[in-house]
This record gives sequence, C-alpha cells and structure tokens, in this order.
Amino acid sequence: MATKKKKKNGFKKFWQLGREEVNTGAFDITEEGTLLVREGNYQYNIMDIIKKHGTSTEIFFPTVVENRVRDLIETFNAYIKVTGYKGRFHYHYPMKVNQNKEFVLPAVAEGANLDVGSANELFLVKRMVEQDKFNNKIRVICNGPKTDRYMELIEELKGKGLIVIPIIEDRVELERMKKFKGEVGIRVDLNVKVDSHWDKRYNRFGFTEEELLDLGKIRNLAVLHYHVSSQIERIEGFIQPLKRALALYAKMREKNPNLDTLDIGGGGGVPYDKKKRFYIGKNLINQIVKTAKKQSDKLGIRHPNLIAEWGRYVVAPAQITIYKITAEKQAYNKGSNSWYVIDGSFMNDLLDTWAIKQKWHVVPVNHMHSKKLAHVWLAGSSCDSDDKYTAGGSYILLPKLGEVDELYVAFLDTGAYQDSLASHHCLLSSPLKLLAQNGEIKVLRRRESPEEVGKQFGW
Ligand SMILES: *Cc1c(COP(=O)(O)O)cnc(C)c1O
Repeated sequence: MATKKKKKNGFKKFWQLGREEVNTGAFDITEEGTLLVREGNYQYNIMDIIKKHGTSTEIFFPTVVENRVRDLIETFNAYIKVTGYKGRFHYHYPMKVNQNKEFVLPAVAEGANLDVGSANELFLVKRMVEQDKFNNKIRVICNGPKTDRYMELIEELKGKGLIVIPIIEDRVELERMKKFKGEVGIRVDLNVKVDSHWDKRYNRFGFTEEELLDLGKIRNLAVLHYHVSSQIERIEGFIQPLKRALALYAKMREKNPNLDTLDIGGGGGVPYDKKKRFYIGKNLINQIVKTAKKQSDKLGIRHPNLIAEWGRYVVAPAQITIYKITAEKQAYNKGSNSWYVIDGSFMNDLLDTWAIKQKWHVVPVNHMHSKKLAHVWLAGSSCDSDDKYTAGGSYILLPKLGEVDELYVAFLDTGAYQDSLASHHCLLSSPLKLLAQNGEIKVLRRRESPEEVGKQFGW
C-alpha cells in the first residue's frame, strides 16, 4: 500500500500538479490516471467531461475568478490596514483580457470595478447599467483612444450618474477633455524598463514625465495612471515604476491639488512555467503597499488612493484548453522529437503561442501514470507551418503513442487574452466552451458548425 501511494504522488509531482506555489494546487490525478480538477471539495474528472463533450474544448472555472478577485481585494485592504496606509484601494478588472460575460460578471460580483479600452467595451457596460444590473457605485476607467463614439458614451454614462474616469492619452484628448464635466486621469509613459514577457522598448501610450510636468494644471485631474507591461517577471518590476510614479505624482500635486489617486495599471503575472520559482500575489501586494507608504512619507504627501488593473493575474488560471492528439509524424530535428498533431490550432485558439512565443504548461488528460514517454513538438491542424508549439525549441513530454489508445492533452492558464484574439485560419471551428461550477457543466458556446464559420465570411 505504502509504495503504491508513493508512486502516485510521484506522478503528481512529475507533472507539477498539486503545488500551491505554482498555482496548480487544484490539480490532481485520479486512480485511473486521468486529470482531476478540484473546486473546493468538489472534483471534476476531466476525462469524463471530454468523453461526453469531445474536443477541442475549453473549460472555464468561474470560481477561480471569484477567489482571485476576492483575495486580491482583501489582501490589498489587509496590508493597507496593517501598515497604516491612509489611501483606499480600488480593483478595476481590465475587460480586454477576457470580455466573455461569464468571466466579467463573477469579477464584478466579487467587487471588481472595470477598466475598458474601447467604445464597444463601454457599450457593454452601458447595457448592464441600463438593465439596472450594475450597482451605480461601480467605477469605470476608460483607457484607449477616445474616438467620437467613445467620448459620446463616456459623457452619456457620466450624465446617468455613473463614475466614469477617462484617462487622457495625448494632446488631442487633453483638448477634448476640457469640455468633460467629471474627474479625469492622465497617463504617463514612465522612463523605466522592467523584465516582462515581451520587450517593450517602445511605448506609444501616454505622455513622457517631462511633458506632464510642462502641462502644469490639468482640469479636474484626479488620477495619475501608468501601465508598464504585462506578465512582469519580478516584484522589483513593480517597485521601481511605483517609486518613479510617486515622485512624479508629488510634483504634479503642486499644480493639481485634487490629484488623489495613483493607478498602477496591469502586469501581475502567473507562473506559466511550473518549473521556475515565481512571486506570489501576497508578497507582491505587501511590497507595493509598503513602498507606497514609505515613499509617500518620504515625499511628504498624503498617501494616494491606489488602483490596480491586473487582468492576466485574475483570469489566466480560470481556463484550461483540451485537445486530442490525432496523429504522430516524424520530425527531422536535433532532439529527434516527433510531431503530435492536435485537433485544434495554436494560431486560432492560443494565438500568443505564435504572436509572443508564449509558453504553456501542458499535461496529459489521460494515461498520466504512463511510464513510456516521448519528447514531442505539437502541431496545430491548420495548413500553416507556423501553427506549432515547440516550447521554445526544447520539447514537451507526453505519453508515447502506440503504448496508449487515445491521448488527450490539457493546456493550463489559457483564460487571459486568447479568447478575443481567436481567429479562423483555414476556417477551423473555435473550440467548444464549457463552464464548470458547483459540480455542474454548462455549455457556454457550442463548437461552431461549418455553416456558422462560413457565414462569418459571407457564405
Ligand atoms: C492590458 C491592460 C491591462 C491588463 O494588463 P495585465 O498584464 O493583463 O494585467 C491593464 N491596464 C491597461 C491600461 C491595459 O492596457
């Protein structure tokens, strides 16, 4: 008995599951070697779901969004309390990270405010407000280029009594905003570079620090906003910009005494790579609040209210994507990895694989106890040679085909950005989208039929 148990835990460790520190605490392996996901004390055998619904399939767990939003808000508030910080904290969920209604509403229901980036996103907020579905205390930050349509919506919602705060991005908007009757924010392109998932040498958003100081007094200015990057890799990458922004904030307050809020933007990361150490939210938030307090005291300013707009951090871990391996092909490469072909497409369903060389944690959904493993690369089923995932040129370890009947694989942390970037290269259908909560499985979007895909292209 004892040896059997040890072996089982060995596989769990091998696939990097059940580890809180890399956010796989909810994942386990069943007796029969299939992937298990827990929601509190309930558990889903992913293979059972796949047998019923087929692949390619995305499974969304709203409880993850709820827990992460609640934790984030509670942790900020707890550190604000213990450090004696005088400002307040507001969390704004950036809609662009995943606009599916089923993602946004659990966040809002846990107390998230919103950050929108376009007229169309704000239009969805307007609809919820008109249907009386949103508490009118919800705060909406408006980023992105303010087209006429966008400005009209901002003004309309402001007129309805909603707290809408447009963020000024350039001089044209600055001019336009002189007519706006409510509080506004302004965006700075901070002169700092941080380690993040992608190179941001050139930032085209916002004003430089010098420009902002030259502007002097800005009408109704309440918020100073910055957003340096996404998937920031180290805590230092948050602290350095924060210090710089606070110094600027202090100077801007001399001419803008109503400036009372610092919006630190997005950038909270998730440990996509389960083998490397990554910071945890609690430590990150602790450092942010501590630094804000220490620096503000040093600068002799009142502690600003803080806004965070972490999107990826909240929603990436809330979804997994599952494919079936449909074929194996010989690959002629150095590691002599073979290609496993999936019944979906990286370029369509997980576009960042191609766009920013995103790395994913890939685990089998069945045959998880298999001892015969292969070094593989994964190929999408579009006709494009770029439709592949090679884990940055190394390999993905999966059960050897031939030793097993059917093989399914799961990609973890697919809840951020991939849905709205999804496309239809080779007219492949998008995956089925399921929701799993309280032990029930609900179909959110059916797998597209050929008619439905054709229709989008005028057929
Ligand atoms: C994209 C974006 C965010 C969210 O970034 P994450 O890295 O997902 O946290 C926040 N604020 C602004 C202004 C953004 O453009």
